[in-house]
Amino acid sequence: MIAYIEPYFLDNDAEAASAVTASVLSTDGVSESLDIQGEILCGGAAVDIAGRDFGGMNCVKPLAVVRPVGPEDIAGAVKAALRSDKLTVAARGNGHSINGQAMAEGGLVVDMSSTAENHFEVGFCGDTAYVDVSGGALWENVLKRCVSEYGLAPRSWTDYLGLTVGGTLSNAGVSGQAFRYGPQTSNVTELDVVTGNGDVVTCSEVENSELFFSVLGGLGQFGIITRARVLLQPAPDMVRWIRVVYTEFDEFTRDAEWLVSQKDESSSFDYVEGFVFVNGDDPVNGWPTVPLHPDHYFEPARLPQSSGSVLYCLELGLHYRDSDSNSNVDKRVERLIGRLRFIEGLRFEVDLSYVDFLLRVKRSEEIAKVIGTWETPHPWLNLFVSKRDIGEFNRTVFKELVKNGVNGPMLVYPLLRSRWDERTSVEVPEGEIFYIVALLRFVPPCTKVSSVEKLVAQNQDIVHWCVRNGIDFKLYLPHYKSREEWIRHFGNRWSRFVDRKAMFDPMAILSPGQKIFNRSP
Ligand code: FAD
Repeated sequence: MIAYIEPYFLDNDAEAASAVTASVLSTDGVSESLDIQGEILCGGAAVDIAGRDFGGMNCVKPLAVVRPVGPEDIAGAVKAALRSDKLTVAARGNGHSINGQAMAEGGLVVDMSSTAENHFEVGFCGDTAYVDVSGGALWENVLKRCVSEYGLAPRSWTDYLGLTVGGTLSNAGVSGQAFRYGPQTSNVTELDVVTGNGDVVTCSEVENSELFFSVLGGLGQFGIITRARVLLQPAPDMVRWIRVVYTEFDEFTRDAEWLVSQKDESSSFDYVEGFVFVNGDDPVNGWPTVPLHPDHYFEPARLPQSSGSVLYCLELGLHYRDSDSNSNVDKRVERLIGRLRFIEGLRFEVDLSYVDFLLRVKRSEEIAKVIGTWETPHPWLNLFVSKRDIGEFNRTVFKELVKNGVNGPMLVYPLLRSRWDERTSVEVPEGEIFYIVALLRFVPPCTKVSSVEKLVAQNQDIVHWCVRNGIDFKLYLPHYKSREEWIRHFGNRWSRFVDRKAMFDPMAILSPGQKIFNRSP
């Protein structure tokens, strides 16, 4: 499809948008302009969807949604924006951002789902297997194809897999494997990228390396990822999934840190996460959220009298093969778990297939869709907090500010800085061990706007408290309103970020929803 919309770029307001609709839908256009093979949609459901996200707290109107066939179409959209005065371009993965990061008010939204199937090729570099996948592919589909067709799987994941490859690589991509392999950004070796100059570039650690590291964790500011080469490992068949409960934060962190710091893989589990929950029978925030099977029962009588308002759960996974005997798996588990100091009797475990384990959050998604909390606003807060300050964070935030829960998971587990590549654009705290903290708030249907605003305000209070008290922290999936806050976020790497922007997107066309740079006229 060849569409002509250039005359309208100079004034891309709402009126122009409807004019574009007319001119785009007819192909007897006005002048050479947005010449792409894919679709351009100026109204209807696609545009409505592009104006919203999972956070559900922002709503903007893009000029049009572009459904590209491949990188040339994306480059065409960027070049069209370059020719205009103020047009911007946002790649939209699955729109699972919280604060409008994948939106482009009055701009072009590139719906990456139309390219999801463009690449899927497994290869080897020496002994190391990799898969080339599309930036718009969902991790869930990458998993299913890699395992079913090749018995292989990526090494580092997110908890939920309804996210796109390009979307998580633009942030970091963190789950319970990251202590060993680093975030997803540490597990890709090559990218194809469309830059803000409209160039289609292949990059890696050795080829166009500045672009490669800029784009990884780059919040969509330097280029649109159309292909990623993701490292693979042999996929296990099964996972023993275990949860153990602690009353004391110190003991929880000591065991978690011990597990993530083991040099030898056989001395730890393959997956280590943790969460905080309310010490009570609340079905959404309390004891019932811990057992892994309907037949399991959380026995509160096991808790010591001294236990406080919140408790801590270490979540572990051990990979094994169908050919491993049960007794062998039991032995490996007991050897590792025997060193941990959780409360006796508060241990839960199930065995499930590796794919079901990685898709575990999909079940929560299905439930949330039934009860209506998937569609309601999600005022989430994600932070990285250094080991030095996580105790103080626990005392003030977990034990006081959110001691009644957030109506959803409150994750907290350690990661190792040495597994993160400082050359990428991701920001993490100082110090080798830091914790990811995620307050994943779900709000019931019909919650008043003012109540959601209070939750957003509480998130801000937490961030302000961190700043005031000199907590060594960084926002993950950051969202700031002012230039000063972005400068503080990047610290002494701000100038590197600005230089990279000048190199790869000098007109500030890409990902305007991050609100870091203003479009240059
Ligand atoms: P979008 O929200 O569509 O885009 C995010 C940003 O990346 C935007 O700025 C967009 O312009 C840009 N972008 C999108 N595609 C590309 C591309 N191809 N090239 C360049 N830039 C692009 N994160 C974790 O790390 N671990 C988790 O366990 C985890 N669990 C989650 C669970 C749920 C239910 C949700 C909603 C989110 C979760 N996240 C997690 C956060 C997730 O990583 C971010 O939402 C991320 O943005 C990916 O979502 P997306 O693919 O929908 O990207």
